[in-house]
Amino acid sequence: MTDEHLTKYASEEARWHAVQNRDEKANGYFYYVVRTTGTYSKPSCVSRSARRENIEFFLTAEQARAAGYRPCGRCRPDEPDLHEIHANAVIAACRIIEESELKPSLNDLARRVGFSQFYFHRVFKAFTGITPQAYFEAGRASRLRDELSRAESVSDAIYSSGFNSNGHFYGATSAILGMTPTSYRSGGRGASIRFVVADCSIGPVLVAATDKSVCAVLLSDGKVDLRSRVTELFPQADLAEAEADSPFAALVAEALAGAELPAPGRELLPVHVQRVVLRQRVTQVLREATLTATPYGTSRPARHLSPRRGYLAPSPGVAPPPRHSASAKA
Ligand SMILES: [Zn+2]
Repeated sequence: MTDEHLTKYASEEARWHAVQNRDEKANGYFYYVVRTTGTYSKPSCVSRSARRENIEFFLTAEQARAAGYRPCGRCRPDEPDLHEIHANAVIAACRIIEESELKPSLNDLARRVGFSQFYFHRVFKAFTGITPQAYFEAGRASRLRDELSRAESVSDAIYSSGFNSNGHFYGATSAILGMTPTSYRSGGRGASIRFVVADCSIGPVLVAATDKSVCAVLLSDGKVDLRSRVTELFPQADLAEAEADSPFAALVAEALAGAELPAPGRELLPVHVQRVVLRQRVTQVLREATLTATPYGTSRPARHLSPRRGYLAPSPGVAPPPRHSASAKA
């Protein structure tokens, strides 16, 4: 039992409030017994609300048992929380993906964490808001950026970060890097980059984009200033911070709001997973906005594109992605 278990939901009032709201986040911090039925339950138990005067709280299930109560048949308070089982499976899958050079198949991932393919996909998406494939792609894109700054050549970097250095990859580079690999490697030479600094649930974030795509989503580690980091990454670019009231800042704010991790379970994921996921989600949302505003492959001047004034005008077609909140519980 940690200190947190003693301080969180410590008062009877906080516990009663959690029980009334069937607060999943309170599970594991305490149990409640209903004297009239003789059972003990988790805070999130869905059985019919009991009256306050018939309820008593215990810190652990053992204490409730020792006091003569039996486990509730609805919420099965002695079994591990399903939510935790799911979180652990997602964390295990993230580790497998991080250690894979090739994109693991959904079937393989599901099998290794002990779920069916369909169920695993749903759970992963509910916790992270992205697919396991997207998690892999985020890691590979991050390896590519690292390799580009230190490999002997662009093709070495592409190859050693796990891409086939073929034409198909080259076609996709502007979406991944926001510029050609050669330009990225040379510190953004020739690129016009706008960026904004904002706040999100896991701290300050800097989002930078060219007129092609997102080129950096930097999350603060509390040590290095984000504005210094973007300058170090792209010393050769035409780099400018967008005005707080610019269309680009509005677009990023919208993307960040849409990219926040689904709240139930977020706290169960390790910070580095949260960071990868948030970066990927912001990139996805902004990429969709780019695609909506400026279809690739057309040569007509895009009306929404205004790099001088700060990237794209918000498009009415851009909606935040659906929230995948509590579907993992089903
Ligand atoms: Zn119950």
